[in-house]
Amino acid sequence: MSEFGLEDLPVRDDLRGRTPYGAPQLDVPVALNTNENPYAPSPRLAEALARAVADVAIGLNRYPDRDATRLRAALAGYLGHGLGADQVWAANGSNEVLQQILQVFGGPGRTAMGFEPSYSMHPIITGVTNTGWTALPRAHDFAVDAEAAVAAITANRPDIVFLTSPNNPTGTALPLEVIEAVAHAAPGVVVVDEAYAEFRREGTPSALSLLPAHPRLIVSRTMSKAFAMAGARLGYLAAHPAVVDALQLVRLPYHLSAVSQAVAGTALEFADELLGAVKQLREERDDLVEWLRGHGFTIADSDANFVLFGEFDDRRAVWQGLLDRGVLIRETGPPQWLRVTVGTPEEMSAFREALLDVTGGRR
Ligand code: PMP
Repeated sequence: MSEFGLEDLPVRDDLRGRTPYGAPQLDVPVALNTNENPYAPSPRLAEALARAVADVAIGLNRYPDRDATRLRAALAGYLGHGLGADQVWAANGSNEVLQQILQVFGGPGRTAMGFEPSYSMHPIITGVTNTGWTALPRAHDFAVDAEAAVAAITANRPDIVFLTSPNNPTGTALPLEVIEAVAHAAPGVVVVDEAYAEFRREGTPSALSLLPAHPRLIVSRTMSKAFAMAGARLGYLAAHPAVVDALQLVRLPYHLSAVSQAVAGTALEFADELLGAVKQLREERDDLVEWLRGHGFTIADSDANFVLFGEFDDRRAVWQGLLDRGVLIRETGPPQWLRVTVGTPEEMSAFREALLDVTGGRR
């Protein structure tokens, strides 16, 4: 029995040799590795969530609203920009939203393009849907060069283009002109992954404003970050109603449970409270950037709830040194950089202290 392993199963050839994606889930005092929101739901929100779940509990013998109509209307209201429920779609985390996009617009014989370093699930979801992947490098400052992007799109004619703004793991937000240039040049769909949208600095725009002029543009969002609901698994997108119609072809019936719909709807009612904590996190992020710069580290400007910093000859040693001191960050991005998620002030003090202890600072 124990002799039998994964390699003995008739797994698809293109999946052989792959390893599952995922950051280590270690039990550490300070976890700053997965860009979660450090603030747990307030007692008031937790109570409202429990009430909402109790309300749907008595109807769990029935399938949920397959179209998640109320939730989509609430999400559209939150996004603004005159969006209606027919322009919004929701699923179990934005990863599932992205997977559905790939299932509709990708597939064998089709290709997707991205600008790396970026969110590594983009090429992974692309791969598992049997779609080809073309990676273009970002500039030295992690920006996307519009001219180079347009040239590559014109040459490769990808079916899907991924733009991540703010980008993970660099924190870089894209100017609207770059997104517009890409949307104009792309023959297929353009997905702007805005998982970290709410953490943008003042004056950095969202791609939502471009939707009316670009019917093949898709903006994906999540409640995992700003709404502090990573455990609830709720991602969504805004796009032309035709795109939402297309997604119906691949979504599983009743994919979004009644519990998920109720929890997400309730969290949205607490948007003001939750976005207040986001403001705090943005300030904490800006303080962290300043502190890291002040101590001689190189930082990528961040519009997200994390910071990419370096540069280290041996980043693994720094990562391990921090972990030894109870602080878990992420070894990701270009080889000499590390990424740290913005946590509570206490967590950030622990991070700062551990980092100085490990590196002695850079000055
Ligand atoms: N997009 C980006 C850029 C991300 O960093 C993440 C999560 N790390 C996601 C999408 C997926 O988030 P979720 O599935 O929790 O919505």
